[in-house]
Amino acid sequence: MIDFDPEPEFQAQLDWAKAFCEQELMPLNYLLLADREEKRVGKPGLLEGAKFKRHIRGLQEQVKGQGLWGLHLGPELGGPGLGQVKLCLMNEILSQASTAPTVFGTRAPDTGNAELIAHLGTAEQKKRWLEPIMNDEFRTCYSMTEPHAGSDPGMFRTRAWRDGDGWVLDGYKWFSSYGDEAKLLIVMAITNPDAPLVDRASMFLVPRETRGIEIIRNVGQLGEPLGTGDHSYIHYNQVRLPADALLGREGQGFAGSQTRLSGGRIHHAMRAVGQAQKALDMACERVLSRETKGSLLSDKQMVQESIADSYIQIRQFRLHVLYAAWLIDKHQSYNREVRREIAAVKVSAPKVLLDVVYRCLHLHGSLGASNETELGQMWMNVPWMGIVDGPTEVHKVTVAQQTLRHYAASDDLFPSYHLPKKIADARARFAELLEHEVGAI
Ligand SMILES: Cc1cc2nc3c(=O)[nH]c(=O)nc-3n(C[C@H](O)[C@H](O)[C@H](O)COP(=O)(O)OP(=O)(O)OC[C@H]3O[C@@H](n4cnc5c(N)ncnc54)[C@H](O)[C@@H]3O)c2cc1C
Repeated sequence: MIDFDPEPEFQAQLDWAKAFCEQELMPLNYLLLADREEKRVGKPGLLEGAKFKRHIRGLQEQVKGQGLWGLHLGPELGGPGLGQVKLCLMNEILSQASTAPTVFGTRAPDTGNAELIAHLGTAEQKKRWLEPIMNDEFRTCYSMTEPHAGSDPGMFRTRAWRDGDGWVLDGYKWFSSYGDEAKLLIVMAITNPDAPLVDRASMFLVPRETRGIEIIRNVGQLGEPLGTGDHSYIHYNQVRLPADALLGREGQGFAGSQTRLSGGRIHHAMRAVGQAQKALDMACERVLSRETKGSLLSDKQMVQESIADSYIQIRQFRLHVLYAAWLIDKHQSYNREVRREIAAVKVSAPKVLLDVVYRCLHLHGSLGASNETELGQMWMNVPWMGIVDGPTEVHKVTVAQQTLRHYAASDDLFPSYHLPKKIADARARFAELLEHEVGAI
Protein backbone atom coordinates (compact mmCIF):
# COMPACT_ATOMS: atom_id res chain seq x y z
CA MET A 1 0.00 0.00 0.00
CA ILE A 2 1.22 3.50 -0.77
CA ASP A 3 1.37 5.62 2.36
CA PHE A 4 2.31 9.29 2.28
CA ASP A 5 2.71 9.48 6.07
CA PRO A 6 6.16 8.84 7.52
CA GLU A 7 6.23 6.15 10.22
CA PRO A 8 5.68 7.61 13.73
CA GLU A 9 9.31 7.20 14.91
CA PHE A 10 10.65 9.07 11.89
CA GLN A 11 7.88 11.68 12.11
CA ALA A 12 9.07 12.34 15.69
CA GLN A 13 12.60 12.95 14.33
CA LEU A 14 11.23 15.28 11.66
CA ASP A 15 9.27 17.18 14.32
CA TRP A 16 12.38 17.46 16.47
CA ALA A 17 14.46 18.75 13.52
CA LYS A 18 11.77 21.30 12.62
CA ALA A 19 11.52 22.66 16.16
CA PHE A 20 15.32 22.71 16.50
CA CYS A 21 15.66 24.66 13.22
CA GLU A 22 13.02 27.16 14.27
CA GLN A 23 14.19 27.65 17.84
CA GLU A 24 17.97 27.29 17.61
CA LEU A 25 19.12 27.72 14.03
CA MET A 26 16.93 30.47 12.62
CA PRO A 27 17.95 32.99 15.33
CA LEU A 28 21.58 32.11 14.51
CA ASN A 29 20.85 32.74 10.85
CA TYR A 30 19.62 36.23 11.61
CA LEU A 31 22.78 36.87 13.58
CA LEU A 32 24.88 35.65 10.64
CA LEU A 33 22.96 37.97 8.34
CA ALA A 34 23.81 40.90 10.57
CA ASP A 35 27.39 39.66 10.73
CA ARG A 36 27.66 39.69 6.94
CA GLU A 37 26.40 43.25 6.85
CA GLU A 38 28.94 44.28 9.51
CA LYS A 39 31.75 42.78 7.46
CA ARG A 40 30.44 44.37 4.28
CA VAL A 41 30.86 47.81 5.82
CA GLY A 42 34.35 46.94 7.04
CA LYS A 43 33.61 46.23 10.71
CA PRO A 44 35.07 43.08 12.30
CA GLY A 45 32.70 40.10 12.11
CA LEU A 46 30.49 39.47 15.14
CA LEU A 47 30.74 35.74 15.10
CA GLU A 48 34.35 34.74 14.67
CA GLY A 49 36.06 33.27 17.64
CA ALA A 50 36.10 30.42 20.08
CA LYS A 51 32.82 31.24 21.83
CA PHE A 52 30.81 31.00 18.63
CA LYS A 53 32.56 27.78 17.58
CA ARG A 54 31.84 26.27 21.01
CA HIS A 55 28.19 27.15 20.61
CA ILE A 56 28.08 25.39 17.22
CA ARG A 57 29.80 22.32 18.73
CA GLY A 58 27.11 22.26 21.43
CA LEU A 59 24.38 22.27 18.78
CA GLN A 60 26.15 19.52 16.84
CA GLU A 61 26.23 17.42 20.02
CA GLN A 62 22.46 17.80 20.38
CA VAL A 63 22.01 16.61 16.79
CA LYS A 64 24.29 13.63 17.45
CA GLY A 65 22.26 12.87 20.58
CA GLN A 66 19.19 12.52 18.33
CA GLY A 67 21.07 10.16 15.97
CA LEU A 68 20.76 12.70 13.16
CA TRP A 69 24.40 13.58 12.54
CA GLY A 70 25.72 12.93 9.01
CA LEU A 71 22.23 12.23 7.72
CA HIS A 72 23.39 11.28 4.23
CA LEU A 73 25.68 8.48 5.43
CA GLY A 74 25.07 4.86 6.32
CA PRO A 75 25.68 3.48 9.82
CA GLU A 76 29.07 2.08 8.75
CA LEU A 77 30.22 5.71 8.38
CA GLY A 78 28.55 7.04 11.48
CA GLY A 79 25.31 8.26 9.89
CA PRO A 80 21.76 7.01 10.48
CA GLY A 81 21.41 5.41 6.99
CA LEU A 82 18.03 6.96 6.36
CA GLY A 83 17.80 6.25 2.64
CA GLN A 84 16.93 8.91 0.09
CA VAL A 85 13.20 9.42 0.76
CA LYS A 86 13.71 10.16 4.43
CA LEU A 87 16.80 12.18 3.65
CA CYS A 88 14.71 14.30 1.30
CA LEU A 89 12.09 14.92 3.98
CA MET A 90 14.85 15.99 6.36
CA ASN A 91 16.48 18.23 3.74
CA GLU A 92 13.16 19.95 3.15
CA ILE A 93 13.21 21.00 6.81
CA LEU A 94 16.92 21.82 6.94
CA SER A 95 16.59 24.11 3.91
CA GLN A 96 14.98 26.69 6.21
CA ALA A 97 18.26 27.60 7.94
CA SER A 98 21.59 28.13 6.20
CA THR A 99 23.39 27.00 9.37
CA ALA A 100 21.61 23.61 9.34
CA PRO A 101 24.09 21.76 7.07
CA THR A 102 26.98 22.64 9.41
CA VAL A 103 25.03 21.69 12.51
CA PHE A 104 23.68 18.42 11.02
CA GLY A 105 26.96 17.39 9.33
CA THR A 106 25.52 17.68 5.82
CA ARG A 107 27.47 20.65 4.50
CA ALA A 108 28.37 20.69 0.79
CA PRO A 109 30.79 19.94 -0.70
CA ASP A 110 32.03 17.98 2.35
CA THR A 111 29.10 15.56 2.09
CA GLY A 112 29.89 14.51 -1.49
CA ASN A 113 33.61 14.49 -0.80
CA ALA A 114 33.16 12.22 2.22
CA GLU A 115 31.03 9.89 0.09
CA LEU A 116 33.72 9.80 -2.58
CA ILE A 117 36.44 8.89 -0.08
CA ALA A 118 34.14 6.34 1.55
CA HIS A 119 33.44 4.68 -1.82
CA LEU A 120 36.84 4.93 -3.47
CA GLY A 121 39.42 5.57 -0.77
CA THR A 122 41.95 3.08 0.57
CA ALA A 123 41.93 2.18 4.27
CA GLU A 124 44.81 4.64 4.76
CA GLN A 125 43.03 7.48 2.93
CA LYS A 126 39.85 6.89 4.92
CA LYS A 127 41.78 6.95 8.17
CA ARG A 128 43.57 10.16 7.31
CA TRP A 129 40.66 12.12 5.80
CA LEU A 130 37.26 10.60 6.37
CA GLU A 131 37.14 10.68 10.15
CA PRO A 132 38.11 14.35 10.49
CA ILE A 133 35.68 15.34 7.72
CA MET A 134 32.94 13.43 9.52
CA ASN A 135 33.86 15.25 12.74
CA ASP A 136 33.66 18.61 10.95
CA GLU A 137 37.28 19.38 11.79
CA PHE A 138 37.85 21.28 8.54
CA ARG A 139 36.33 22.18 5.21
CA THR A 140 37.04 20.37 1.94
CA CYS A 141 36.82 21.39 -1.70
CA TYR A 142 35.90 19.64 -4.94
CA SER A 143 37.93 21.11 -7.76
CA MET A 144 36.70 20.07 -11.20
CA THR A 145 35.36 22.96 -13.31
CA GLU A 146 37.91 24.80 -15.46
CA PRO A 147 37.73 28.43 -16.58
CA HIS A 148 37.26 27.52 -20.23
CA ALA A 149 35.16 24.40 -19.64
CA GLY A 150 32.52 23.59 -17.07
CA SER A 151 29.89 21.23 -18.33
CA ASP A 152 31.94 19.43 -21.00
CA PRO A 153 34.52 17.11 -19.41
CA GLY A 154 35.95 16.43 -22.87
CA MET A 155 37.38 19.95 -22.75
CA PHE A 156 39.26 19.67 -19.44
CA ARG A 157 42.96 20.51 -19.68
CA THR A 158 44.28 20.08 -16.14
CA ARG A 159 46.73 17.21 -16.41
CA ALA A 160 48.42 14.82 -14.00
CA TRP A 161 51.27 12.57 -15.00
CA ARG A 162 53.45 10.06 -13.21
CA ASP A 163 56.86 11.27 -12.15
CA GLY A 164 59.16 8.94 -10.22
CA ASP A 165 57.18 7.50 -7.31
CA GLY A 166 54.46 10.12 -7.48
CA TRP A 167 52.48 12.47 -9.66
CA VAL A 168 52.71 16.02 -10.97
CA LEU A 169 49.46 17.99 -11.27
CA ASP A 170 49.19 21.06 -13.45
CA GLY A 171 46.36 23.29 -14.64
CA TYR A 172 43.69 25.84 -13.77
CA LYS A 173 40.41 25.29 -11.93
CA TRP A 174 37.51 27.69 -11.64
CA PHE A 175 34.70 28.11 -9.07
CA SER A 176 36.19 25.57 -6.66
CA SER A 177 34.00 26.31 -3.64
CA TYR A 178 35.98 26.89 -0.41
CA GLY A 179 39.24 26.14 -2.26
CA ASP A 180 41.04 28.78 -0.22
CA GLU A 181 39.97 27.73 3.25
CA ALA A 182 39.67 23.96 2.68
CA LYS A 183 42.29 21.69 4.18
CA LEU A 184 41.77 19.04 1.50
CA LEU A 185 41.02 19.52 -2.20
CA ILE A 186 39.81 16.69 -4.42
CA VAL A 187 41.11 17.57 -7.87
CA MET A 188 40.00 16.08 -11.19
CA ALA A 189 42.78 15.81 -13.76
CA ILE A 190 43.28 14.18 -17.14
CA THR A 191 45.66 11.25 -16.72
CA ASN A 192 45.21 9.56 -20.08
CA PRO A 193 44.21 12.01 -22.84
CA ASP A 194 44.07 9.26 -25.47
CA ALA A 195 41.66 7.01 -23.59
CA PRO A 196 37.89 7.01 -24.26
CA LEU A 197 36.31 9.96 -22.42
CA VAL A 198 34.95 7.87 -19.56
CA ASP A 199 38.47 6.59 -18.67
CA ARG A 200 40.37 9.79 -19.30
CA ALA A 201 40.45 11.44 -15.86
CA SER A 202 41.44 10.60 -12.30
CA MET A 203 40.87 12.23 -8.93
CA PHE A 204 43.56 13.26 -6.46
CA LEU A 205 43.51 14.02 -2.75
CA VAL A 206 45.52 17.21 -2.41
CA PRO A 207 46.25 18.77 1.00
CA ARG A 208 45.86 22.55 0.87
CA GLU A 209 49.38 23.18 2.17
CA THR A 210 50.97 21.37 -0.80
CA ARG A 211 53.43 23.59 -2.61
CA GLY A 212 52.21 24.94 -5.96
CA ILE A 213 48.54 25.57 -5.08
CA GLU A 214 48.10 29.22 -6.05
CA ILE A 215 44.78 30.93 -5.39
CA ILE A 216 44.45 33.47 -8.20
CA ARG A 217 41.39 35.00 -6.54
CA ASN A 218 38.18 34.15 -4.71
CA VAL A 219 35.03 34.77 -6.68
CA GLY A 220 31.66 35.70 -5.17
CA GLN A 221 28.10 34.96 -6.21
CA LEU A 222 25.47 37.44 -7.39
CA GLY A 223 25.01 40.20 -4.87
CA GLU A 224 28.37 39.73 -3.13
CA PRO A 225 30.85 42.59 -3.39
CA LEU A 226 33.59 42.18 -6.00
CA GLY A 227 36.77 40.79 -4.43
CA THR A 228 34.90 38.66 -1.88
CA GLY A 229 33.45 35.17 -2.15
CA ASP A 230 34.03 31.50 -1.51
CA HIS A 231 34.63 30.14 -5.01
CA SER A 232 38.31 29.93 -5.83
CA TYR A 233 40.07 30.39 -9.13
CA ILE A 234 43.13 28.17 -8.66
CA HIS A 235 46.37 27.53 -10.49
CA TYR A 236 47.79 24.10 -9.68
CA ASN A 237 51.30 24.98 -10.64
CA GLN A 238 53.35 21.80 -11.11
CA VAL A 239 52.02 20.40 -7.83
CA ARG A 240 53.97 17.31 -6.77
CA LEU A 241 51.93 14.57 -5.13
CA PRO A 242 52.81 11.19 -3.61
CA ALA A 243 51.56 8.00 -5.30
CA ASP A 244 48.88 7.51 -2.65
CA ALA A 245 47.25 10.83 -3.54
CA LEU A 246 45.32 9.01 -6.29
CA LEU A 247 41.68 8.47 -5.22
CA GLY A 248 40.22 5.28 -6.67
CA ARG A 249 41.69 3.72 -9.76
CA GLU A 250 43.52 5.67 -12.45
CA GLY A 251 40.87 6.62 -15.02
CA GLN A 252 37.97 6.37 -12.54
CA GLY A 253 37.58 10.14 -12.18
CA PHE A 254 34.53 10.82 -14.32
CA ALA A 255 32.61 7.71 -13.27
CA GLY A 256 33.34 8.47 -9.60
CA SER A 257 32.17 12.05 -9.92
CA GLN A 258 28.76 10.91 -11.19
CA THR A 259 28.10 9.03 -7.95
CA ARG A 260 29.01 12.14 -6.05
CA LEU A 261 26.87 14.52 -8.06
CA SER A 262 23.74 12.39 -8.39
CA GLY A 263 23.05 12.30 -4.65
CA GLY A 264 23.78 16.01 -4.30
CA ARG A 265 21.33 16.95 -7.06
CA ILE A 266 18.35 15.37 -5.41
CA HIS A 267 19.15 16.97 -2.07
CA HIS A 268 19.42 20.36 -3.76
CA ALA A 269 16.01 19.71 -5.30
CA MET A 270 14.36 18.97 -1.96
CA ARG A 271 15.96 22.04 -0.43
CA ALA A 272 14.40 23.99 -3.30
CA VAL A 273 11.00 22.59 -2.27
CA GLY A 274 11.62 23.88 1.26
CA GLN A 275 12.70 27.30 0.03
CA ALA A 276 9.74 27.65 -2.34
CA GLN A 277 7.34 26.68 0.44
CA LYS A 278 8.96 29.25 2.74
CA ALA A 279 8.41 31.96 0.11
CA LEU A 280 4.77 30.90 -0.25
CA ASP A 281 4.26 30.94 3.54
CA MET A 282 5.50 34.53 3.58
CA ALA A 283 3.27 35.54 0.69
CA CYS A 284 0.19 33.97 2.28
CA GLU A 285 0.70 35.92 5.50
CA ARG A 286 1.31 39.10 3.57
CA VAL A 287 -1.76 38.93 1.32
CA LEU A 288 -3.97 38.19 4.30
CA SER A 289 -2.61 41.28 6.05
CA ARG A 290 -2.43 43.91 3.30
CA GLU A 291 -5.45 45.87 2.14
CA THR A 292 -5.79 48.01 -0.95
CA LYS A 293 -8.68 49.45 -2.99
CA GLY A 294 -11.22 48.37 -0.41
CA SER A 295 -10.26 44.75 0.10
CA LEU A 296 -7.50 42.47 1.26
CA LEU A 297 -4.96 41.35 -1.35
CA SER A 298 -6.08 37.79 -0.61
CA ASP A 299 -9.58 38.64 -1.89
CA LYS A 300 -8.33 39.67 -5.31
CA GLN A 301 -8.63 36.95 -7.93
CA MET A 302 -5.30 37.61 -9.63
CA VAL A 303 -3.56 37.36 -6.27
CA GLN A 304 -5.42 34.11 -5.59
CA GLU A 305 -4.20 32.83 -8.95
CA SER A 306 -0.60 33.51 -7.88
CA ILE A 307 -1.13 31.66 -4.60
CA ALA A 308 -2.85 28.74 -6.32
CA ASP A 309 -0.26 28.43 -9.11
CA SER A 310 2.54 28.46 -6.54
CA TYR A 311 0.85 25.88 -4.34
CA ILE A 312 0.23 23.55 -7.30
CA GLN A 313 3.76 23.90 -8.65
CA ILE A 314 5.32 23.17 -5.25
CA ARG A 315 3.10 20.12 -4.63
CA GLN A 316 3.83 18.64 -8.06
CA PHE A 317 7.55 19.25 -7.72
CA ARG A 318 7.68 17.83 -4.20
CA LEU A 319 6.01 14.61 -5.28
CA HIS A 320 8.39 14.28 -8.20
CA VAL A 321 11.46 14.72 -5.99
CA LEU A 322 10.15 12.14 -3.53
CA TYR A 323 9.44 9.76 -6.40
CA ALA A 324 13.02 10.15 -7.65
CA ALA A 325 14.30 9.51 -4.12
CA TRP A 326 12.08 6.44 -3.81
CA LEU A 327 13.48 5.11 -7.11
CA ILE A 328 17.05 5.46 -5.80
CA ASP A 329 16.09 3.57 -2.64
CA LYS A 330 14.38 0.89 -4.73
CA HIS A 331 17.19 0.34 -7.21
CA GLN A 332 20.03 1.12 -4.81
CA SER A 333 21.96 2.50 -7.77
CA TYR A 334 22.06 5.40 -10.19
CA ASN A 335 20.90 3.38 -13.20
CA ARG A 336 19.42 4.97 -16.33
CA GLU A 337 15.87 5.12 -15.03
CA VAL A 338 17.01 6.75 -11.81
CA ARG A 339 19.26 9.20 -13.66
CA ARG A 340 16.32 10.37 -15.79
CA GLU A 341 14.29 11.27 -12.71
CA ILE A 342 17.25 12.97 -11.02
CA ALA A 343 17.91 15.01 -14.17
CA ALA A 344 14.22 15.91 -14.39
CA VAL A 345 14.03 17.27 -10.86
CA LYS A 346 17.36 19.06 -11.38
CA VAL A 347 15.72 20.85 -14.33
CA SER A 348 12.54 21.66 -12.38
CA ALA A 349 14.22 23.04 -9.26
CA PRO A 350 15.35 26.42 -10.65
CA LYS A 351 12.16 26.79 -12.69
CA VAL A 352 9.89 26.21 -9.68
CA LEU A 353 11.98 28.58 -7.56
CA LEU A 354 12.06 31.18 -10.33
CA ASP A 355 8.28 31.14 -10.66
CA VAL A 356 7.35 30.84 -7.00
CA VAL A 357 9.93 33.21 -5.53
CA TYR A 358 9.16 35.79 -8.20
CA ARG A 359 5.41 35.65 -7.54
CA CYS A 360 5.88 35.81 -3.77
CA LEU A 361 8.40 38.63 -4.00
CA HIS A 362 6.06 40.51 -6.35
CA LEU A 363 3.11 40.10 -3.97
CA HIS A 364 5.19 41.84 -1.29
CA GLY A 365 5.60 44.96 -3.47
CA SER A 366 8.44 47.25 -2.39
CA LEU A 367 8.99 45.17 0.74
CA GLY A 368 9.69 42.16 -1.48
CA ALA A 369 12.13 44.16 -3.57
CA SER A 370 13.89 45.43 -0.42
CA ASN A 371 16.70 43.81 1.55
CA GLU A 372 14.49 43.47 4.64
CA THR A 373 13.05 40.02 3.95
CA GLU A 374 14.74 36.77 2.98
CA LEU A 375 13.02 36.88 -0.42
CA GLY A 376 15.82 38.93 -1.96
CA GLN A 377 18.42 36.32 -1.03
CA MET A 378 16.16 33.54 -2.31
CA TRP A 379 15.84 35.40 -5.59
CA MET A 380 19.62 35.76 -5.87
CA ASN A 381 19.94 32.00 -5.34
CA VAL A 382 17.76 31.08 -8.31
CA PRO A 383 20.22 31.49 -11.20
CA TRP A 384 22.95 29.30 -9.75
CA MET A 385 20.48 26.48 -9.17
CA GLY A 386 20.20 26.12 -12.94
CA ILE A 387 23.97 26.05 -13.41
CA VAL A 388 25.60 24.24 -10.52
CA ASP A 389 26.16 20.47 -11.05
CA GLY A 390 25.56 20.96 -14.78
CA PRO A 391 23.30 23.43 -16.58
CA THR A 392 19.62 22.80 -17.24
CA GLU A 393 20.13 22.09 -20.94
CA VAL A 394 22.50 19.20 -20.26
CA HIS A 395 20.00 17.57 -17.90
CA LYS A 396 17.16 18.09 -20.36
CA VAL A 397 19.18 16.12 -22.90
CA THR A 398 19.43 13.26 -20.38
CA VAL A 399 15.68 13.34 -19.77
CA ALA A 400 14.93 13.37 -23.49
CA GLN A 401 17.40 10.59 -24.32
CA GLN A 402 16.18 8.32 -21.53
CA THR A 403 12.58 8.97 -22.55
CA LEU A 404 13.14 8.34 -26.25
CA ARG A 405 14.83 5.01 -25.45
CA HIS A 406 11.39 3.59 -24.72
CA TYR A 407 10.06 4.34 -28.23
CA ALA A 408 10.72 3.11 -31.78
CA ALA A 409 10.27 4.78 -35.14
CA SER A 410 7.28 3.89 -37.32
CA ASP A 411 8.29 1.86 -40.37
CA ASP A 412 5.22 3.09 -42.26
CA LEU A 413 4.60 6.39 -44.08
CA PHE A 414 2.11 7.36 -41.39
CA PRO A 415 2.56 6.90 -37.64
CA SER A 416 1.41 3.74 -35.86
CA TYR A 417 -1.43 5.70 -34.19
CA HIS A 418 -2.80 7.20 -37.47
CA LEU A 419 -6.57 6.89 -37.19
CA PRO A 420 -7.37 5.65 -40.74
CA LYS A 421 -5.02 2.72 -40.15
CA LYS A 422 -6.36 2.05 -36.66
CA ILE A 423 -9.95 2.08 -37.97
CA ALA A 424 -9.06 -0.26 -40.87
CA ASP A 425 -7.42 -2.67 -38.37
CA ALA A 426 -10.45 -2.51 -36.09
CA ARG A 427 -12.82 -3.17 -39.02
CA ALA A 428 -10.76 -6.23 -39.97
CA ARG A 429 -10.77 -7.52 -36.39
CA PHE A 430 -14.49 -7.08 -35.87
CA ALA A 431 -15.53 -7.99 -39.47
CA GLU A 432 -17.86 -10.68 -38.18
CA LEU A 433 -19.68 -8.27 -35.89
CA LEU A 434 -20.11 -5.81 -38.71
CA GLU A 435 -21.83 -8.31 -41.06
CA HIS A 436 -25.56 -7.53 -41.42
CA GLU A 437 -27.60 -10.37 -39.98
CA VAL A 438 -30.14 -11.67 -42.50
CA GLY A 439 -33.68 -11.18 -41.23
CA ALA A 440 -32.68 -8.77 -38.49
CA ILE A 441 -35.14 -5.94 -37.94
C1 LIG B 1 27.30 28.29 -6.75
C2 LIG B 1 28.21 27.42 -7.58
C3 LIG B 1 29.12 26.57 -6.94
C4 LIG B 1 29.98 25.77 -7.68
N1 LIG B 1 30.88 24.98 -7.02
C5 LIG B 1 31.75 24.24 -7.73
C6 LIG B 1 32.74 23.44 -7.07
O1 LIG B 1 32.81 23.39 -5.83
N2 LIG B 1 33.63 22.75 -7.82
C7 LIG B 1 33.60 22.77 -9.19
O2 LIG B 1 34.41 22.11 -9.80
N3 LIG B 1 32.69 23.53 -9.85
C8 LIG B 1 31.76 24.26 -9.17
N4 LIG B 1 30.85 25.03 -9.81
C9 LIG B 1 30.89 25.10 -11.27
C10 LIG B 1 29.78 24.33 -11.94
O3 LIG B 1 29.97 22.95 -11.83
C11 LIG B 1 29.73 24.82 -13.40
O4 LIG B 1 29.34 26.18 -13.34
C12 LIG B 1 28.78 24.03 -14.26
O5 LIG B 1 29.25 22.74 -14.52
C13 LIG B 1 28.57 24.74 -15.62
O6 LIG B 1 29.79 25.03 -16.22
P1 LIG B 1 30.13 26.53 -16.71
O7 LIG B 1 29.87 27.45 -15.58
O8 LIG B 1 31.47 26.51 -17.32
O9 LIG B 1 29.03 26.82 -17.81
P2 LIG B 1 29.14 26.50 -19.36
O10 LIG B 1 29.51 25.08 -19.55
O11 LIG B 1 29.96 27.57 -20.01
O12 LIG B 1 27.64 26.70 -19.79
C14 LIG B 1 27.08 28.01 -19.93
C15 LIG B 1 25.71 27.89 -20.56
O13 LIG B 1 25.83 27.32 -21.86
C16 LIG B 1 24.70 26.52 -22.15
N5 LIG B 1 25.12 25.13 -22.33
C17 LIG B 1 26.19 24.50 -21.77
N6 LIG B 1 26.24 23.22 -22.18
C18 LIG B 1 25.22 23.05 -23.04
C19 LIG B 1 24.74 21.94 -23.81
N7 LIG B 1 25.36 20.74 -23.76
N8 LIG B 1 23.63 22.13 -24.58
C20 LIG B 1 23.01 23.33 -24.62
N9 LIG B 1 23.42 24.40 -23.91
C21 LIG B 1 24.49 24.26 -23.12
C22 LIG B 1 23.78 26.65 -20.93
O14 LIG B 1 22.89 27.70 -21.12
C23 LIG B 1 24.76 26.98 -19.82
O15 LIG B 1 24.16 27.59 -18.68
C24 LIG B 1 29.95 25.82 -9.10
C25 LIG B 1 29.04 26.67 -9.75
C26 LIG B 1 28.18 27.46 -9.01
C27 LIG B 1 27.24 28.39 -9.73
